Amino acid sequence: MRLGIISALSEEQQGLVEAMQSPYKLIHGQREYWVGQLWEIDAVCVLSRIGKVAAAMTATTLVEKFGVTHILFTGVAGAGEQTVQVGDIVVADSLVQHDMDASPLFPRFEVPLTGLTHFTADHRLNARVLNAAYAFLDEDFMEAIDDGEKAVFRLTQPRIHRGLIASGDQFIKDSAHIAGLNAALPGLVAVEMEGAAVAQVCYELDVPCAVIRTISDNANENAATDFMRFVKSVAARYALYIVRRFCLQEEVSVSDQASRVSAGT
Ligand code: SAH
Repeated sequence: MRLGIISALSEEQQGLVEAMQSPYKLIHGQREYWVGQLWEIDAVCVLSRIGKVAAAMTATTLVEKFGVTHILFTGVAGAGEQTVQVGDIVVADSLVQHDMDASPLFPRFEVPLTGLTHFTADHRLNARVLNAAYAFLDEDFMEAIDDGEKAVFRLTQPRIHRGLIASGDQFIKDSAHIAGLNAALPGLVAVEMEGAAVAQVCYELDVPCAVIRTISDNANENAATDFMRFVKSVAARYALYIVRRFCLQEEVSVSDQASRVSAGT
């Protein structure tokens, strides 16, 4: 596995490059790609910047120029329905571009000439991401997040949701807007600005991808309040610990195999 890890904002990926072993930086298309190892896994970390085009450009480059075999997007998102709360984690089963609308020529949300509205995340990668997320909440969360920040953002028992993530070139900050998207898109759990673009690129290039997001806001009128503080003090910590768990999982299974082999079983 050579894992590409994308985030939109530098705050979302804080700590990850520092955690890399023997990292070196390559600049391409106005972005810094950090190539190295994360807990024994070959990895390339990059900031896409915000929006679908930026994310698509970055994902394509990761595959075509850096030879990544899997892509993981980690970042923050707005809640897509009412049971999803700030501090919860969402893992995409599938992704849709909510601002794609070439109707009446094509059905709303369909990416013209692909025949698709939804792009799916990879099952195996998702299973691993979910394991990592559960392990994070069970074993790391209490110590990973500062108690003061837990209180400020009322993080008591964060939960994990799987479902549909909708991406578009808009920061959603309006109750009517999010309610409309929720009504139009069954199974919606979160809204953000990059995931579905990465998912389309990965579908077209046949590379497995997964998108995991920490909920930073309710996509309503309060969405911008404390947004950056949350990203820095909470979401960046989630991402770092979850990626660590994700990477260490394979190490565990590989060394398990090695010990079985050496024990002759
Ligand atoms: N206020 C921020 C705006 C960042 S845009 C700033 O000044 O920089 C929001 C980023 O977080 C995007 O990368 C998007 O993927 C994600 N996001 C979080 N909440 C969102 C929401 N309510 N709507 C859309 N994207 C959201």
